[in-house]
Amino acid sequence: MRIVFDLDATLLNSHEAFLVAKEMLLSTLQSRWPDMKTPVILDTLGRIDAERLVHLGYTPERFAGSLMLAGEELAGSRRSELTTDQRQGLVRAGQVVPSWSYPPFPGTIEVLHWLTAQGAQIGICSKATDVAFQRTKLHRWGLDQLVSFVNIVPHKGPKEIAATLESMGGGGPNPSTDWMVGDSLRDDIHSAAALGIRTIHIQSPINPSRQVKVWSYESGFDHVVPTLWVSCVSHIPEYWDQICQKVEVAELKKDIRGGRRT
Ligand SMILES: [Mg+2]
Repeated sequence: MRIVFDLDATLLNSHEAFLVAKEMLLSTLQSRWPDMKTPVILDTLGRIDAERLVHLGYTPERFAGSLMLAGEELAGSRRSELTTDQRQGLVRAGQVVPSWSYPPFPGTIEVLHWLTAQGAQIGICSKATDVAFQRTKLHRWGLDQLVSFVNIVPHKGPKEIAATLESMGGGGPNPSTDWMVGDSLRDDIHSAAALGIRTIHIQSPINPSRQVKVWSYESGFDHVVPTLWVSCVSHIPEYWDQICQKVEVAELKKDIRGGRRT
């Protein structure tokens, strides 16, 4: 069996990094407006709105890009009031997030060891433009030692997931035995289902209630039904018997369509 994992918000808790980035952004803003007591982003009327950081159409797991855009938006709105250094500080606050602030979700390392002990082959397919930073995060937590192949790609679709499986050895995608695990319905679940392999959706580990607006990138993919849902990678062993079942392709297609909420 081969299992390909997504990295951010699947194995690593990006929410921790969101909080760090938020603090950095706020301290930068507070250096410009010392009287400011709460998080600030301007609402549509130009007022300061503490909730705007997570309601700009981005989800917290996209924190770095979200904060950078939020900072740029604010810097743009107040451009005449900001010095060049302050504007650059806003951008940096969204970009510079140290690798230690992306800890694995609880139980993640143990589960990867457990899966390997069961004979599963583990791979990672992560979408990112900063390859060096992804590698730093993987190395920081020893994840690079636990997997047989890491594929960091600027775009994640069926082709990239298939390439990850092939690089892990054992040929192309095998619908009977291969799995994809990820938090993105669009990049992870939809792409893997297009290859015919089964999927486990890590459903909103950061915001299970989905009260934060779904990132627009994911809209239009709500209909995609994974084979299994779990709230965290650490729950995967509970479904091990089902995951191990080799299925006929006809049965698999029905499974993907029908889904099953756990
Ligand atoms: Mg992800």
